[in-house]
Amino acid sequence: MKVAVIGAGASGLMAAYAAAVNGNDVTVFEKNEKCGKKIYITGKGRCNLTNAVSPQEFLQNVVSNSKFLTGAIYSFSSDDTVNFFENLGLHLKTERGNRVFPVSDKASDVTKYLEKACISVGVKFNFNKKVDGLTILNSTVSDIIVNNNKIPFDKVIVCTGGLSYPLTGSTGDGYKFAESCGHTIVDLKPALCGLNLKGKYFSELQGLSLKNVKLTVYYDGKMLKSLFGEMLFTHFGVSGPLILTISSLINRLDLNKIKLSIDLKPALSDEQLDERILRDFSQSPNKTMAVVLKGLLPSSLIGEVLKRSGINGDKKVNAVSKSERLSLLTSMKSFDMLVSSLRQFDEAIVTSGGVNVKEVNPKTMESKLIKGLYFCGEVLDVDAFTGGFNLQIAFSTGFAAGNSIKAEEI
Ligand SMILES: Cc1cc2nc3c(=O)[nH]c(=O)nc-3n(C[C@H](O)[C@H](O)[C@H](O)COP(=O)(O)OP(=O)(O)OC[C@H]3O[C@@H](n4cnc5c(N)ncnc54)[C@H](O)[C@@H]3O)c2cc1C
Repeated sequence: MKVAVIGAGASGLMAAYAAAVNGNDVTVFEKNEKCGKKIYITGKGRCNLTNAVSPQEFLQNVVSNSKFLTGAIYSFSSDDTVNFFENLGLHLKTERGNRVFPVSDKASDVTKYLEKACISVGVKFNFNKKVDGLTILNSTVSDIIVNNNKIPFDKVIVCTGGLSYPLTGSTGDGYKFAESCGHTIVDLKPALCGLNLKGKYFSELQGLSLKNVKLTVYYDGKMLKSLFGEMLFTHFGVSGPLILTISSLINRLDLNKIKLSIDLKPALSDEQLDERILRDFSQSPNKTMAVVLKGLLPSSLIGEVLKRSGINGDKKVNAVSKSERLSLLTSMKSFDMLVSSLRQFDEAIVTSGGVNVKEVNPKTMESKLIKGLYFCGEVLDVDAFTGGFNLQIAFSTGFAAGNSIKAEEI
């Protein structure tokens, strides 16, 4: 069976390997000069290649279409990924949050071992070869088009990635291939990205990192989610681990109806915080609010919290009224922020949306519309939280497609 794999990223390399192991004649077409440009920048250059949890727990970290992914994740789980790389000789380690990395801390090793494995089973690579389109005959894939030449193949696996970090080669070509074959593309949105905020106050807070805060997301006044963790103020608004997670949960919603609310003192109840404020006030009755609050808040936040509470920073604490104190408490327990937009694709870790999974066989990743055409990895409408889940999805779907193509079928 002649198999073309379009894209030498995580899903393409795994699909090519699995198809070649089955005895197929596999050629990878990659528009870059080398494999896995995106893999190089994953996990801050260390590549968090999977998450060592059970398939069940894994699927709880999938944001879009976990049901569609169930079979692929059980068939090629994070355990399988760990064993696969260990058997190739790449030693792995598991860190906080079950995140798995190469012991070498080098993302380039993941690409190197995957590419070596592909070569060892006879996969051929064509670099600097951009695929421009597909030819379909009688609802069956027949050729790929490269430099205006039609090259015939029995099977074509599209592994072109999403739209995020386009400099790595993921520029959304696979969506065009899919649409040209009659597939529908679910709305494409940046995911695992920062959020632009309404207003200007955050420019004063730029660089402030908040640890152990509670962030609650409201949609149209109703609570959507409450999470604990770390976040960061930036020149555009907010980012950091908590915000990346939130971005994936809200990116398909009307952002005008979203309110984010930070509890700056999540360890204290309202009563406990009020007692604490009263204690601080009584210890320094003649000091100003701006000075006394230094014991309770990071310096850069004091001005904004006071502004929201309607209290002048020069006011002596013994002159602060009860209603002002309660307003201060509210500003600290509910520091509200309105979202204006998501950051753009070139800063998003993944793309949500993509080839509609209803049109793809979940066991094989084969198109239900076009015979011999497969979609794997981020080009599909699947995405997950940070922690190694997205690469594992690429490996699992790539394996499902490649492994389903049996050489003797022809
Ligand atoms: C900064 C950053 C850090 C990340 N860190 C992690 C992490 O630590 N752990 C994790 O699980 N996930 C991480 N991710 C997400 C993860 O990298 C992706 O989800 C995953 O790489 C997707 O794999 P893929 O094979 O679907 O696509 P890609 O890796 O994007 O590969 C697609 C390939 O197809 C090629 N291509 C595209 N169009 C064509 C064409 N027309 N012809 C030929 N070739 C083509 C591209 O050049 C590219 O090489 C990170 C992402 C980013 C941006």
